[in-house]
Amino acid sequence: MEIKTDVLIIGSGIAGLFAALRISEYADVVLITKKEKNESNTNYAQGGIASVIDPTDSFEKHIKDTLIAGAGLCHKDTVDIIVKEGPARINDLIELGTQFTRKNGKLDLAREGGHSMPRIVHAKDLTGREVERALIEQVTSKSNVRLIENTIAIDLITEHNVQQLKDSPLKNRNCWGAYALNCKTNELIKISSRATILATGGVGQVYLHTTNPQIATGDGFAMAYRAGAKIGNMEFIQFHPTAFYSNSQGGNFNAPSFLISEAVRGFGGILRTMDGSEFMSKYDPRKELAPRDIVARAIDNELKKRGDDHVFLDITHKNKEDILEHFPNIYNNCLKSGIDISKEYIPVVPSAHFCCGGVVVDEFSRTSLKGLYACGEVSMTGVHGANRLASNSLLEGVVFAERASINIKEFINKFSGAIPEIPDWDDSGTLSHDEKVLITHSAREVKQVMWDYVGIVRSNMRLQRAEQRIHNIFVETEELYRRTKVFEDILELRNIVACSHIIIKSAKKRKESRGLHYTLDYPNMLPDNKLKDTILKNYNP
Ligand SMILES: Cc1cc2nc3c(=O)[nH]c(=O)nc-3n(C[C@H](O)[C@H](O)[C@H](O)COP(=O)(O)OP(=O)(O)OC[C@H]3O[C@@H](n4cnc5c(N)ncnc54)[C@H](O)[C@@H]3O)c2cc1C
Repeated sequence: MEIKTDVLIIGSGIAGLFAALRISEYADVVLITKKEKNESNTNYAQGGIASVIDPTDSFEKHIKDTLIAGAGLCHKDTVDIIVKEGPARINDLIELGTQFTRKNGKLDLAREGGHSMPRIVHAKDLTGREVERALIEQVTSKSNVRLIENTIAIDLITEHNVQQLKDSPLKNRNCWGAYALNCKTNELIKISSRATILATGGVGQVYLHTTNPQIATGDGFAMAYRAGAKIGNMEFIQFHPTAFYSNSQGGNFNAPSFLISEAVRGFGGILRTMDGSEFMSKYDPRKELAPRDIVARAIDNELKKRGDDHVFLDITHKNKEDILEHFPNIYNNCLKSGIDISKEYIPVVPSAHFCCGGVVVDEFSRTSLKGLYACGEVSMTGVHGANRLASNSLLEGVVFAERASINIKEFINKFSGAIPEIPDWDDSGTLSHDEKVLITHSAREVKQVMWDYVGIVRSNMRLQRAEQRIHNIFVETEELYRRTKVFEDILELRNIVACSHIIIKSAKKRKESRGLHYTLDYPNMLPDNKLKDTILKNYNP
């Protein structure tokens, strides 16, 4: 099957949906998404969106907070952009029907760790779900946006796919759409477009424990990397210190862990090892209230030292009514898993949460491939540097989706060259996939390797081991991919292997500890004059 369109958007989170709406004002859009339309990281976002709304707040304060969190690696110009354009985009979301929580008619602004002012616009503790609802309602009402669910992008179409252009240099490469697979009908689709936006979200599923849903297999990073686009700063993976640990995850190892919010520690929660001992006082005088990265590292150290699978968070000393009043969602979620948190300790484990690096883009979301844009979590705008400030990611997604849509209008108006004849997907000589265990086993292995060796605390030896293991899995996976008819699981495995390779390669390049990247071999930060982004170019595992 072949589809031709002005603009192809891959992904239906905040970035893809917002871009689709804007672009529908001047061009036809095809938006593909690999599961149901609302399944995305956006849908799970709880806290909210950071923006300067309160008159006593200021752009300077939000910029300063973001730069402090980013540990010297933020790009000041893009931080300026998201902060200064934030209020207008919040307004847009409201006009598009998003119902944010209000107090006395005004937006209720929450305060989160790292923010010097209350500036988190939210819809109770289900902000992402409300934003998705509103944007999907709008997108599905547009006659020139064709939203196709259960359709996974396989790879981007570039010179590499066109026989007579195969050997053209990586520089000045074009992107003319993507090959995709309808996962319900198994139909292969060739989608050609004048401009393409990657809005495929994050990569949490590379790790054994993650808060990210199953869609977060890093497809966008992997496709862009294979196509030769620049990728940067992928060593900076943010781990949330406390997500619910469930050993039923052994049954479904892709199942996301739900967050046990920081507020539970703020409420007086005590972290304990599996034998019941409190341990945070050994690591930081602020104990459980130390910053996220310190708490995550302390838990990781206890787990590695003891060989345990999880620690506990204890709020049993608190009054049940207070617990129910403050944390009804967490209480009910834990109860569904058999834990009454007013009487029993909560098993928790740090979990991969957010990727600060990604496909390198400029201030209009343009990647290093002509016609290819990236926005949202898959992109590296430079906003987050070495560590993300809470609630800046939804903001980045919406601000850069707007900027991509402005630039694409100009780009497709100027688009002169015809799209070359693109061959159909060639699956001759491939067999149907009857040995799924080969895939599930490899996926489990990747996640375990990444968790054990490329997690919160790294070392040269751990990274070296991980590189070797991932390389072996890469060789096996590529061989399997070449002889198998494509289907979702093999595509996702191929992508988590590629992303693991990229993360390891980036981590090996950074010879210091900074922000979210902590290595035992280089525990200090490099001086500022040696500080730079980690940019990777070629797919060469
Ligand atoms: C539990 C949780 C809580 C969070 N809380 C907050 C918060 O309070 N504030 C904040 O700012 N951020 C928060 N974040 C981070 C934030 O939600 C994400 O960074 C953001 O939603 C990413 O938006 P996106 O549009 O880039 O991607 P997503 O929302 O992840 O959307 C990606 C889309 O791409 C699709 N896709 C992926 N691969 C393919 C493919 N190959 N083919 C077709 N479609 C594909 C997916 O199905 C999905 O529709 C949270 C994240 C999680 C997991």
